[in-house]
Amino acid sequence: MTQKKTPRMATSDWVAMDRAHIWHPFTQAQVAPPPLPVARGEGAWLIDTEGRRYLDLISSWWVNLHGHAHPALVEAISKQAATLEQVLFAGFTHAPAARLAGALIARLPAGFSHVFYSDNGSTATEIALKMAWQYWRNHDDDAAARRRRRVLAFDGAYHGDTFGAMAAGRYSGFFDPFGDLLFEVHAMPFPATWQGDEHVEATEARALAAVDAWLAQHGEETAAMILEPLVQGAAGMRMCRPAFVQALVARLKAHGVLVIFDEVMTGFGRTGTFFACEQTGPLPDIVCLSKGISGGFLPLAATVVQPHIHAAFLDDDLARAFSHGHSYTANPLGCAAGLASLALFDAPDMAGRLAALASAQQAGLDMLAEHPAVVKPRRCGTVAAFNVSGGAGGYGDPVGPRLRDAFLAEGLVVRPLGDCVYVLPPYCVEGDELAMAWRQIERVVDQVCGRHRGPASGGASHGFHP
Ligand SMILES: *Cc1c(COP(=O)(O)O)cnc(C)c1O
Repeated sequence: MTQKKTPRMATSDWVAMDRAHIWHPFTQAQVAPPPLPVARGEGAWLIDTEGRRYLDLISSWWVNLHGHAHPALVEAISKQAATLEQVLFAGFTHAPAARLAGALIARLPAGFSHVFYSDNGSTATEIALKMAWQYWRNHDDDAAARRRRRVLAFDGAYHGDTFGAMAAGRYSGFFDPFGDLLFEVHAMPFPATWQGDEHVEATEARALAAVDAWLAQHGEETAAMILEPLVQGAAGMRMCRPAFVQALVARLKAHGVLVIFDEVMTGFGRTGTFFACEQTGPLPDIVCLSKGISGGFLPLAATVVQPHIHAAFLDDDLARAFSHGHSYTANPLGCAAGLASLALFDAPDMAGRLAALASAQQAGLDMLAEHPAVVKPRRCGTVAAFNVSGGAGGYGDPVGPRLRDAFLAEGLVVRPLGDCVYVLPPYCVEGDELAMAWRQIERVVDQVCGRHRGPASGGASHGFHP
């Protein structure tokens, strides 16, 4: 009898297997170019199976913080895997989860007390919405609490792809096929602004007037508002000023409305502070974290609450408990990665690195702002963005896929959101790499949009690709 050895699969075999069997996310497979086969990652770089190198300027969908395959995280995860890889989290606990919860509470502004773990951004927001809803239902002896049944969000908001998250993000335009199934959420106008925006005061005043009008009529019926503070990510890196969020949160609090911050993208240093909520005044009742929480290594999320939220679920009756949990809640490997990632922020040069990254981004943006096809240059912390003019605009703008393909040909991973080009790099990117990348970005914008103002030259749409 001969023992069959498992053959080592050649690249072409697994690429063919991908073609045959994989249904990729957010992809119209009929027209999408084949996915890039990535062999490995190294710092800010991805290396494909042919050995070609690509600078990951979007942190692999906004998750990576310190670089791919960072040795400190590799070590932490491998040590943890050899100790305890997973254990159920109801009735059991473990050191990485407890330590990470303590570390997150310590990093957040004082006022938060409890961490509820899950495993992705959508579940983090889904959980926050369920908590906010049940918070009021748990006060069922209180007639005023019983009346709070309305939920607010911003227009354009994106909070994830599960049903509650889709409902909160229904004005993003991503979820039209599911519209009939989504619960009612009321949209408030988001005062997006950019460098040189002369109308920002008026836009903010209008947005606050809409909130005031809502609260005057429905303030005591409103359970919660969920929002992405400072930067709306998937909406096209739309940015607003901290003072606006401060004014908004103060108004919501004055009417007893619970405030949920979705910091799934803005957390962990992206916006110039460790969390965006450090810049936005009165604290939200609930904060959702994911993406960077594990340094970008493993799926993990946390919904963090203030004591009054947690206390509203304490009772002799199980019916008042928060009956929610996932198989991999607080996975020890993810938590160990999270702790190792937080430890890297304690390095003495980290604050300087983030500040240098922010100014390098500004320098790149200032260069691009001179380009005739570039409009609405903007930056928040380490996130820089601009739009290109002349196309249809918005998320469906076919210029997005054309730019993306041209960036990839230059060795840059940049995936425009429609006509919005953004750069959201891992923090390990070096100044000269980034400066060079911005010059390449300028070249690509030249090539795809031309140097003149007006309609971008034609080209086929590849469908939608966030
Ligand atoms: C990405 C994102 C989500 C969803 O996170 P997933 O891990 O993709 O489910 C939710 N909210 C915001 C603000 C995000 O950027």
